[in-house]
Amino acid sequence: MLGVLLIGLFLPQVLSEGGTGDSRWVRYLNHIRRAAQSHSTPDSQNGTFYYRVLQEDLAPFGSGISRDLMQKVLSRKLGTHYQIINHRLYREEECMFPARCSGVEHFLLELLPDLPDMDLVVNVRDYPQVPRWMDPVIPIFSFSKTSDYNDIMYPAWTFWEGGPAVWPIYPTGLGRWDLMREELKKAADLWPWEKKIPKGYFRGSRTSPERDPLILLSRESPDLVDAEYTKNQAWKSERDTLGRPPAKEVPLVDHCAYRYLFNFRGVAASFRLKHLFLCGSLVFHVGDDWLEFFYHRLEPWVHYVPVSPDLADLRELLQFVSENDEEVKRIAERGHTFIRQFLRMADVSQYWRSLLAQYSQLLQYRVRKGKDYREVTGGSRHSEL
Ligand code: UDP
Repeated sequence: MLGVLLIGLFLPQVLSEGGTGDSRWVRYLNHIRRAAQSHSTPDSQNGTFYYRVLQEDLAPFGSGISRDLMQKVLSRKLGTHYQIINHRLYREEECMFPARCSGVEHFLLELLPDLPDMDLVVNVRDYPQVPRWMDPVIPIFSFSKTSDYNDIMYPAWTFWEGGPAVWPIYPTGLGRWDLMREELKKAADLWPWEKKIPKGYFRGSRTSPERDPLILLSRESPDLVDAEYTKNQAWKSERDTLGRPPAKEVPLVDHCAYRYLFNFRGVAASFRLKHLFLCGSLVFHVGDDWLEFFYHRLEPWVHYVPVSPDLADLRELLQFVSENDEEVKRIAERGHTFIRQFLRMADVSQYWRSLLAQYSQLLQYRVRKGKDYREVTGGSRHSEL
């Protein structure tokens, strides 16, 4: 049974123009009210809060995965081929990003005692590989996708290791979600809502030009938003930071000093989103196309403020949040509580477990170890430089 949250009780009645409150904000206040009313706390199904995603992702393979189909997948070289045989993990030699493979292997190794035999092809590139038009649909695991893809989403490597290396703040790559959770908790305690600077804030590189309007708004109205581009490994000139020198990198814990934090897509979904919630700040989530496995449980106006990708409504939204502090503080609290309660490291492992348990049942053949495949036993550490 779904436990219905009583948060609606704390919100004003649905407002009408000319009713109580500032009539400019009726639309937004009603969004909040309605979202809170229809919201319910996640319930776990088959061991995970995110079961719906794996059901949807595996649906195209309902009639089973044959050896023949797996051969097609392997011949396309769209990911790294892993095999689980008799509770041991094997891998083809090739992995485009060793640190990312390591991050994936951490979870597979941990779950080995519970996992049946299977072949799985894990795409460790950023971009998904199975567009909807592809026929037949092939089973490739990717960390992120939009509704235009049929990839099977898995928890990104960065929950353990292999996230982007950002010098000097994350020299060995963003990772260890378990430790980040603790660090961000401390930072959130240092920066309670009342102490936070009431401004929008963003630091990151230009992995997508969708971020440009925020940087430009910050240059125009620094009192509203502090947003600057940093370098990434592809940085060549100031053109890559929109005509200005790159800004100094700022660790995620220091983002907690600000009341409104921005998330944008990058090449695919950005790893930053989950961290922002743990600051206890209000998350402005721009666009809703790019997904990770846990995103569907995060609801607009319940856990975050949705922003259209062109940022056309941004000035108004920033005005709204500054004039409706109590309302929006509760959104921040709900987002924070959600990630603390439902996106623990154990939930990430559990998602892998449920996903692979269901997936392995679809395989219609006996798995045979690949020639020259090596056993993965863990222990090696790579950094993504
Ligand atoms: N990052 C950060 N501080 C910075 C720059 C980046 O904490 O000054 C983090 C950011 O939150 C993200 C990662 O580094 O998790 C990579 O950020 P970038 O903007 O380069 O790429 P994204 O993954 O967001 O597309």
